[in-house]
Amino acid sequence: MAFRIVASCTRCWACLPLCPHEAIRAAAPHFQIDAARCTECVGDYADPQCASICPVEGAIIDAVGQSLNPPGSLTGLPPERRTVSSTP
Ligand code: SF4
Ligand code: SF4
Repeated sequence: MAFRIVASCTRCWACLPLCPHEAIRAAAPHFQIDAARCTECVGDYADPQCASICPVEGAIIDAVGQSLNPPGSLTGLPPERRTVSSTP
């Protein structure tokens, strides 16, 4: 039972001080979660603290690869509206 931080992490540091078990490490090229220490915040908080503060959609995933902040969850933009036009 542990979450993972993936490549889209921007190393913003927001999550690191919030983890109640010091499971997050300031690694490169992206931060990492020590699976042996992460409890998914069960018993400490109602929501996982790292995912609650993370400003990057998709940067933290669960054990089956599901994003805790999926596309659109933070921006409010549905994925189909996120395409950038190449037309000036
Ligand atoms: S879910 Fe909780 S315990 Fe796990 S890394 Fe995030 S803040 Fe730490
Ligand atoms: S809050 Fe998100 S983007 Fe910032 S360091 Fe943690 S996982 Fe990376």
